Amino acid sequence: MSGATVTPSRQQYLDVKAQYPDAIVFFRLGDFYETFDDDAALVARELDLILTSRPQGRNGRIPMAGVPHHSAENYIARLIAKGYKVALCEQMSTELINGLMPREVVRVFTAGTVVEPGMLDAGRNNYLVAVVTDASGEYISPDAPPVGRAGLAYADITTGEFATTQLANRRELLEELARLAPVELLAPEGAEADYPAIHTISRLPAWRFELGHARQTLLRHFGVATLDAFGCEGKPLATRAAGVVLHYLQETQRGSVGQMQRLTTYTTDGYMALGEATRRHLELTEAIAARAPGGDRAPSTLLSVLNKTVTPMGLRLLRQRITQPLLSVDALNARLDQVETLVGDALLRADSRAALKGLPDLERLTNRVLGGRAVPRDLEHIGLALAAVGRIKALAAGQAALAGAARRLDPCPDVADTIGRALGDDAPGNLNKSGFVRPGFSAELDGVVNTSAHARKWVAELEPRERERTGIPSLKVGFNKVFGYYIEVTHANTRLVPSDYIRKQTLTNAERYITPDLKEYETLILNAEERILQIERRLFSELCQHVAGNSEQLLTTAAALAELDVAAALAEVAALNDYARPTLADDTALHIEDGRHPVVEQALNAGLVPGARRGERFVPNDVHFNDDALIQIITGPNMSGKSTYLRQVALITLMAQIGSFVPASAAHIGLVDRIFTRIGAHDELHAGRSTFMVEMVETAEILHHATRRSLLILDEIGRGTSTYDGLSLAWAIVEYLHNHPRLKPRTLFATHYHELTGLADFLPDVVNFNVDVSEEGGEVTFLHRIVPGGADRSYGIHVAQLAGLPRDVILRANEILIDLERHAPTAAVERSRLSTGQQIALFPESSPFLDELRQLDVNALTPLQAINKLYEWKQRYGG
Ligand code: ATP
Repeated sequence: MSGATVTPSRQQYLDVKAQYPDAIVFFRLGDFYETFDDDAALVARELDLILTSRPQGRNGRIPMAGVPHHSAENYIARLIAKGYKVALCEQMSTELINGLMPREVVRVFTAGTVVEPGMLDAGRNNYLVAVVTDASGEYISPDAPPVGRAGLAYADITTGEFATTQLANRRELLEELARLAPVELLAPEGAEADYPAIHTISRLPAWRFELGHARQTLLRHFGVATLDAFGCEGKPLATRAAGVVLHYLQETQRGSVGQMQRLTTYTTDGYMALGEATRRHLELTEAIAARAPGGDRAPSTLLSVLNKTVTPMGLRLLRQRITQPLLSVDALNARLDQVETLVGDALLRADSRAALKGLPDLERLTNRVLGGRAVPRDLEHIGLALAAVGRIKALAAGQAALAGAARRLDPCPDVADTIGRALGDDAPGNLNKSGFVRPGFSAELDGVVNTSAHARKWVAELEPRERERTGIPSLKVGFNKVFGYYIEVTHANTRLVPSDYIRKQTLTNAERYITPDLKEYETLILNAEERILQIERRLFSELCQHVAGNSEQLLTTAAALAELDVAAALAEVAALNDYARPTLADDTALHIEDGRHPVVEQALNAGLVPGARRGERFVPNDVHFNDDALIQIITGPNMSGKSTYLRQVALITLMAQIGSFVPASAAHIGLVDRIFTRIGAHDELHAGRSTFMVEMVETAEILHHATRRSLLILDEIGRGTSTYDGLSLAWAIVEYLHNHPRLKPRTLFATHYHELTGLADFLPDVVNFNVDVSEEGGEVTFLHRIVPGGADRSYGIHVAQLAGLPRDVILRANEILIDLERHAPTAAVERSRLSTGQQIALFPESSPFLDELRQLDVNALTPLQAINKLYEWKQRYGG
């Protein structure tokens, strides 16, 4: 299309689009939001809309697709869910100015900045995260070499949470990203960073990540002269990331973001570190894969087992706690005290949960008020939440462990009362129509309403009154948009019309009149409508200001409600499932008696484990890590419960460190600084990765970063390669864990390499366990019981038979097995056993050079031979 044919409104659209090139522009035209050009094609495709076109200039047409303005939210939500952004361009007036309707972008919708309840998951935070690194190479991929430090800031505009930190390396950054699971990530343009599993990545120009700009954004927003109060002065990476987040929020909300009232600078030191793989393997908040048929109803994650919360705030807090276990005995005991109180008093627990149940989301509602986006219904719901606070406070106040939370609960009687007096029940979800403010709340409003009602009554009674006065029985009072109110008299009766009637319009068979009084009342009625809406909107905005003035108390109350909800939920789970309170200490012991896997246990009890026998119960198992049993090798048949056992130990530890009771009869947990998991390659296949490489990357990570206080869950190592390579690696890894001075972490290592049980003979802190099997009359039964000692068989062929492999294959496999076992290649293992047995303290163990040195009989050498040998070694190994 040539420039000459562009109409002014088209130009207006093009200008807007140029400002928001990466967003879909919803351009308000009358009752529709229209999209044009490529946006139209995209929107039509994604939302199943009809793609039309609109004439442009003399011959051209441009593609167009639109949605009705009143249902736009729904369409926008669908686009956001697909990872798009939408810029909403509104008409800013009802009249043309210089022949053009003024329009402006009033909001940009993106995944990390939406505030509409319909676009949010009530049970999870909606984190927007910005990442900035001090290395130009950026964070290419998980396998890329580590680069320098990073700044990471996150905000949830729906709750006002805003925090920033500096991280030492890429691993810490990826762990923090895994914890936050951001819905949108802000990263600098140009850096080809790949952040796996993050749906929406928004690239911003590099200047926005500069320190000066970021710092100014923060100073201006908070109205301060230094960032000291927020703890990030002198932390340039943290400051840069936080500034980027704030600027993006301001930009998308098109103005101030009142709900961002504070910024905290944090470190990750106080929390248990958990990598993305460990979170995934342990299925903390997300299930790994679709459940087996029939298993849909079974709980699949730790969160789903623990979630007996009854408010959205409680559920969000529970999720946060599961993703961020603590390292402080005192803080955890405070949480456990709360749970214990509510476990011990069933009535208090039931009453508290009943009082909390269905409570509106005080945290998000308050933030909507602070963000200037509240509607009358939001305030009504704040009022409803506050009405329940008094009862909850009274319940909690009598208990020592809950008294702290009770003290923080503030029913804000003044706010509740004002809302109650101002707003009616079933308050509307918008400010379009008057009538939402209760009579009696404002004398001014009542005055206008009364005047209007009086005028309406006067007009309503006009017809009978005038009929009587004029004696015209057919006289009518009517209203139309052009002339307003009128009195209509048929031509036949016009002679009876009184002198104060003023003729306004002649129809074929009647005349229409007005009177000065009627005009006056009409003006009163029409003005009153507008005036009432104006006054109600003003009163509402004053009400919002009043609520915002109490936001501190409201948000503290919301947090205390969430805390009590979580405590009551964990108590309910503990009581229903017979969990025990763990004891915690800053040591490296770990003792669990009668431990169970929280998720598998429930699935079994509910009869939802495919293949399990009817009425089958979960078999509890102990674990005891003492100083001489820190590395436990677990062998046993396939399908016997090794993986379940390993995971249950990790989950019980993690549950203790979020302050939950645990599925065991007793547990002592020496606090764990990190849980590492390495889960067999066979379980990773769904992820479509190069399995052996992933396995080794994860193992390397563990060996580099584990400490004496870590917990290692190794479910098969070295299975993704040839048997000898795999066995050798597994063997060497256990030796390394055992011998390295930084290590000897509590380790559970499940393996099918029975040869590894030999390690216990000469590594003093390695012990063997296996899973008990009963073999009676050729019947093999897996007892799921962990017993001391190593296993010598895997029963793999037995499991294959159960799985329905053809009989011929099973028979032949048995023959081959017997043959292989007869010629078992144990020599290599024996040699390793001997060499390691003699060299426990040496590290690393052997090399061709060392082997030769060991075999050399120095006494049998002549001086010349000795010199020659030295010369030969220097040539060969000396570089
Ligand atoms: P593989 O070596 O083949 O990976 P595995 O030994 O790791 O097998 P799991 O996957 O842990 O075995 O367990 C197999 C099944 O046995 C589980 O799905 C569960 O239903 C059942 N099971 C495991 N542990 C127990 C237990 N303690 N009590 C009852 N059932 C259990």
